Amino acid sequence: MRIIKTIGHLRKILNEFSRNGKRIGYIPTMGYFHEGHLRLVRHAKKECDICVVSIYVNPKQFSPAEDLSRYPRDIKRDSMMIEKENVDILFIPSDNIVYPNRYLTYIDVKEISGTLCGKYRPGHFKGVATVVAKLLNMVRPDVMYLGQKDAQQVVVLSRMVADLNFPVSIRVVATAREKDGLAMSSRNIYLSREDRCQAPVLFRALSDAAKRIQKGERSVSKIIAFIKKTITQDTSGKIQYVACVDANTLEPLKIFKGKALIALAVFFSRTRLIDNVIIPIKKTGKSQNY
Ligand code: AMP
Repeated sequence: MRIIKTIGHLRKILNEFSRNGKRIGYIPTMGYFHEGHLRLVRHAKKECDICVVSIYVNPKQFSPAEDLSRYPRDIKRDSMMIEKENVDILFIPSDNIVYPNRYLTYIDVKEISGTLCGKYRPGHFKGVATVVAKLLNMVRPDVMYLGQKDAQQVVVLSRMVADLNFPVSIRVVATAREKDGLAMSSRNIYLSREDRCQAPVLFRALSDAAKRIQKGERSVSKIIAFIKKTITQDTSGKIQYVACVDANTLEPLKIFKGKALIALAVFFSRTRLIDNVIIPIKKTGKSQNY
């Protein structure tokens, strides 16, 4: 695995691969890898000739009140983990390479960046879209791999890629979970032992809600109330939001129809966890597997 730190070096190597007709798969990350990241890598390895991973903790997607300095970092451990997966290139640009002096250009994917997580993290998706646009221009992959865990990120980046004609296709990989259902996240290491025991309630609430919808429940307000009650009755989790929206447009739903996304954000002490399920709803009443 080659570890590359400059755009010039990256382009020199990748141009050669592209000239030889190699298909390039790319996984943008903020590092501190877990099984979720590795799943994306394995998909890329299977479907592409060359697998590029980047690690960049993007300051522009953290608000001043958020955890940029607290974000876990361990490049040595990360490189060892992906070297074992036979990743070809690890790209680790520094802040002055990504945002040189007098940096002025931003990408704002309107409307869908301001709902769900975006409502509580103003500017977050502008930071995400901007850095991913830049990274796509640096790497120029054929396929970009994203995790369903960050459902809104998938919708925002898919919109950006379509609106700005980026020549890349997007592959979305299912959320990797711990045995008890907790969605894997770099932030899980900050959970206290007690919070870690309680946190699986999120996926349990989402799964039970999905079952109710499968059995025919179509009222969004009832499902939201059920999820909130499940989370708060037995745990100390503080709900930021629970929302049921159209999975493609992120428009709020009044009744369940089409392809629904149920997404939530909950604090356990200072750690903010997100999770979601997608539920395709059959017209006849019952929904399919989610
Ligand atoms: P991050 O390093 O958190 O920015 O994540 C990098 C990529 O890995 C994003 O596309 C995430 O959606 C994806 N990812 C993070 N956690 C998971 C997970 N538990 N399962 C699947 N993908 C994930």
